[in-house]
Amino acid sequence: MLTIDETHDPALLSWVESANDHADFPIQNLPLGVVSHLGGPGRGAIAIGEMVLDLAALAASGLLEGDAQAAAEAGCGESLNALLALGHLPRRALRRAVSALLAAGSAHRDAIEGLLIPMAQTRPQLPARIGDYSDFYVGIHHAQGVGALFRPDQPLLPNYKHIPIGYHGRASTVRTSDTPLVRPHGQIRDAATGAVRYEPTARLDFELELGLWIARGNPLGSPIPLARAHDHMAGLTLLNDWSARDIQAWEYQPLGPFQSKSFLTTVSPWIVTCEALAPFRLAQPARPQGDPRLLPYLFDEADQAHGALGLELRATLASAAMRRAGTAPLELCRTQARAMYWTLGQMVAHHTANGCALESGDLLGTGTISGAEAGTRGSLLEITRGGADPLALPGGETRTFLEDGDEVALHGRFVAPGRRAIGFGACRGIVMPPALV
Ligand code: CA
Repeated sequence: MLTIDETHDPALLSWVESANDHADFPIQNLPLGVVSHLGGPGRGAIAIGEMVLDLAALAASGLLEGDAQAAAEAGCGESLNALLALGHLPRRALRRAVSALLAAGSAHRDAIEGLLIPMAQTRPQLPARIGDYSDFYVGIHHAQGVGALFRPDQPLLPNYKHIPIGYHGRASTVRTSDTPLVRPHGQIRDAATGAVRYEPTARLDFELELGLWIARGNPLGSPIPLARAHDHMAGLTLLNDWSARDIQAWEYQPLGPFQSKSFLTTVSPWIVTCEALAPFRLAQPARPQGDPRLLPYLFDEADQAHGALGLELRATLASAAMRRAGTAPLELCRTQARAMYWTLGQMVAHHTANGCALESGDLLGTGTISGAEAGTRGSLLEITRGGADPLALPGGETRTFLEDGDEVALHGRFVAPGRRAIGFGACRGIVMPPALV
């Protein structure tokens, strides 16, 4: 998982000129995705600057061989599940071959140029058929902040530092960026009167998370050891776990979130591969003194040495009035992926520790990634302290939770000293009025 090679060279430039100053997709990134071109069926692709490289056309070009050719062929269809299932060696071979073909000075520029499509002519789709989606709770400052709102005397429950806490989410309602969010209805209990009604949520929230795409699965009954977890990880995406706090507060006991989360989950459409993020690996922050010892299945020296990420995360909000006035979006938070108490590898190891089978294309959310200080909190529940401290927007509006017309966007940037930064692309959504019921 740590192999840094010529594809990561920060001096590497592409003959695709839009890549060279691109915030997200320089030649050092080469994320995998599926796009529809001019309304056609989805096709596997690699993003490079403002262009996408069609994997089916690449596979037919005769320019690849061996593992790289096998990977491109597996990525030809309307989802990348077959490509993800090949694991990291063919994925890496494809990356190295594509990097060489797109690099400035490539002898094959003329052949490849005809296989590129302007990204503006495409619509991103989900990169994989998601069989299952689970959401963890590894952002310890989020767990503490939210816990303190409900249980001031015991913000963190006793299991938090023993178990990577998670629940099974709804795979069928994961969508890519720019899918409108229709304000959901649900059962809501009026705290003052105790009356229970079915009505649109009044406490609609976002959650700033990462999504981990599963590469190879595991057979039922065969846990994935932490030391092998990287073989089963394909890459990352931004993930907004939209949440209805009033529905959640009424329904969550005793079995956890259900309708408060299942109405929509938005992801950025490109998979930033584990190969691309190799230069951005960091040591997992030391567990504070007094924290319980990790059980052996959750401890691995390499995972502790390289399991965290140099990744800056932000969320922004632009109301309809702000967009009409041309006002820049307001930064809601700026945080670091290092605030994860558990690593991605520990999430995979724990998910399968009981023999649960993961499959290629499964999606694991990290949970909200908040920092400890003001300005670093990844949900309005924390930012406004449950609605008690309204947020001032430019232009005089205020917010406790999201209003119709609000647009929330998540942003992520992998950074490391001496390395070319890379990003995810868009993860946005606008809140629409509730459906008539
Ligand atoms: Ca969540």
